[in-house]
Amino acid sequence: MLKVDARRLWASLMEMAQVGATARGGVRRLALTQEDRRGRELFADWCRQAGMTLQTDEVGNLFARREGADANAKPVLIGSHLDTQPEGGRFDGVYGVLAGLEVVRTLNDRNIETHHPIEVVSWTNEEGARFTPAMLGSAVFVGATPLADALRTEDAQGVSLANALEACGYVDAQRRDARDVEAYFEAHIEQGPILESHGNPIGVVTGGQSIRWLDVEVTGVAAHAGTTPMPYRKDAFFAASAMALELEAIAARYAPQGLVTIGQVEVPNSSRNTIAGKVLFTVDLRHPDDARIDAMEHDVRAAFGRIAAQRGVQASLSTYWRSPATPFDAGCVALVEAATQQLGYSYERIVSGAGHDAIHLARHVPTAMVFIPCVDGLSHNEAEDALPDDVSAGANVLINAVLARAKLAAPAHA
Ligand SMILES: [Zn+2]
Repeated sequence: MLKVDARRLWASLMEMAQVGATARGGVRRLALTQEDRRGRELFADWCRQAGMTLQTDEVGNLFARREGADANAKPVLIGSHLDTQPEGGRFDGVYGVLAGLEVVRTLNDRNIETHHPIEVVSWTNEEGARFTPAMLGSAVFVGATPLADALRTEDAQGVSLANALEACGYVDAQRRDARDVEAYFEAHIEQGPILESHGNPIGVVTGGQSIRWLDVEVTGVAAHAGTTPMPYRKDAFFAASAMALELEAIAARYAPQGLVTIGQVEVPNSSRNTIAGKVLFTVDLRHPDDARIDAMEHDVRAAFGRIAAQRGVQASLSTYWRSPATPFDAGCVALVEAATQQLGYSYERIVSGAGHDAIHLARHVPTAMVFIPCVDGLSHNEAEDALPDDVSAGANVLINAVLARAKLAAPAHA
């Protein structure tokens, strides 16, 4: 089995981590900032040194291409993202991009020619930290978000994505079409504790889970904290609290795959000596199975209706966003699994808990992902870390899966 140069991959990761390095050992490389531009330049330099040609599309997605034997064959894409959270780590995203580069470097070292071209891609604004939504570059690539909508998106300072692209210098009129892609592979840290706790260096990702975001508005009656006897109250906050505890009970009924989170809570016009008249909160529901998430939402609505009636408040729920479960391509997943087995790594099949560019790609292109553990399951944190052995194991799986799909070029005729 082919193996990458583990030291070179690690050294590149550490060098890239210097671009936007923070005092506490993390990285701050927000999309389309000067730090992102410097990161892209470093990556582009490495790609040119590896003999690749570079191309940028209309939303700044950066493609580096290694030609195959058949110029008309569709490319196999490998990628992830170089942008980070404001206080991000050294591996989230950048691992998948540099593992892709390491695949090409290793193929070069071994003089291996593939039938299909191979392209390594860095998607623009995956994190959603500067521009929302997250995974914007890959969304435009597959047509899930219209280019014009993406370009109009503004950051917190009112800078549009179009202006940021211009300032960063990585934009071109090249339009790419997802239909011209043979397959897509992405390596990523797991960003959770499962692989580490099971002692598995590899996660064979079978797809992305179903996600549903609800907005909840609980309306009671604001009243004086000192003059309103308890039985007379319609307290929106206590009602919302009862709903919150019920959500935890619902999660327990769908354990371990069902996940429920209240991420934001707002008490408008709150005052220390006034009974809360209104509470707004968000609910994030996740489950690998669309039918089960439907059942979870049904349970939430029933429970909230019951609690509201008991407490004499109104509860209104609206669905803000939904993303269906996204199974990955069985053929590509099988290539990842076979490579893992042949390399002798222990592994498990795993559903991606987080969103990734691969989720967008998977709806249009045969797609698979490789996960490696991250220390203490920590991500979106400056202390985010991964073990060198795991980093190289993921890249070894990646190169063999990619090679199986890109296929060795037929030997030249005599
Ligand atoms: Zn990421």
